[in-house]
Amino acid sequence: MTDTTRTLQPKPWISGIAPYVPGKSAGADGRPLIKLSANENPLGTGEKAREAFRASQAGADALSRYPDPGATGLREAIAAKFGLESARIICGNGSDELLHLAAGTYAGPGDEILYVRYGFSVYEIAARRVGAVPVEADDRDFATDVDALLAAVTDKTRVVYLANPNNPTGTLATRDEVARLYAGLPKDVLFVIDQAYSEYLSDGEDDGGLELAKSEPNVFVTRTFSKIHGLAAERIGWGYAAAEVISALHRIRLPFNVTRAGQAAAVAALGDDAFVNHSRDHNAKWRAWLAQELEGLGNHGVRVVPSACNFLLVLFEGDVSAETVYERVMEAGYIVRWLPGQGIPQALRMTIGTEEETRGLAAAVRAALAG
Ligand SMILES: *Cc1c(COP(=O)(O)O)cnc(C)c1O
Repeated sequence: MTDTTRTLQPKPWISGIAPYVPGKSAGADGRPLIKLSANENPLGTGEKAREAFRASQAGADALSRYPDPGATGLREAIAAKFGLESARIICGNGSDELLHLAAGTYAGPGDEILYVRYGFSVYEIAARRVGAVPVEADDRDFATDVDALLAAVTDKTRVVYLANPNNPTGTLATRDEVARLYAGLPKDVLFVIDQAYSEYLSDGEDDGGLELAKSEPNVFVTRTFSKIHGLAAERIGWGYAAAEVISALHRIRLPFNVTRAGQAAAVAALGDDAFVNHSRDHNAKWRAWLAQELEGLGNHGVRVVPSACNFLLVLFEGDVSAETVYERVMEAGYIVRWLPGQGIPQALRMTIGTEEETRGLAAAVRAALAG
């Protein structure tokens, strides 16, 4: 006889997952806030991408027909832009999907998935989801420590994630450090280089990830249209690796994972260098400005971690805590990201906004520290 009193239970490794906490956009009272908590592009989306999106939405087939499951046009546009083989590009429902596919394809119960402490929060979820053990290597003052990562590799390591530059710290590992990390990994480990912020890098800062992915059998580079391209709502990411890796990832990918309008908008975004360059320049200017303003508050124990991204990680090590600043800044109308869930309760992550938003945020932080 079947025991009908048994209760439904998630797998224990699923119950062990702390839910992902997205950046907020409203205060507790529901009041809309200036959102500097999710690293979105404050300049919005380029006109070319907006136009392509509208045109695609207006097409007769837009809603009744499935999108191209192979994202063919988008893969071809990416290949042309970056000098890649289109067959070795995989598109995802955001790069988040691709990060999950990497874990699901190469790791399972008992295996280890390695990343640096204060790595991107999706890595832990992706590891636990497949029953793998998430392993965190020590950081070096919030930056990636290659030696610590290599020392943490074991026979059970199946995937190593490196966000470069990293979220939430903003730090960048150099091309030499990335090459050294790769060289020290066994060839049966998939090395995932998550380049969500690569378009924000200055000349000469490229970490060489795509070159590694072109020639090596076990390197998977991921990119996204959510950040500098301003297409976060449509969920479009892409990745590049050896043909064998890509074909394995495809086996568990959802077939129609990128929308029709998203594919069209992404193709157009790739052709809008003016918007990308303008966004990068804006970010560099106001990131430097905000960092300088906040460093001027050093007498309050404020420290800014050097950032290559569109946000700053700001440490509050003086009398006024990060939590208090977070709340006071929210009362002034700005929402940033407080990071206790990621083990940095002394830090706030602040996305670079428009000029007006950035100036307003700096003033709000200054006022918060003054009491
Ligand atoms: C934002 C972000 C992503 C993913 O973004 P998608 O919107 O899923 O493409 C991936 N990695 C890092 C480090 C990020 O900050």
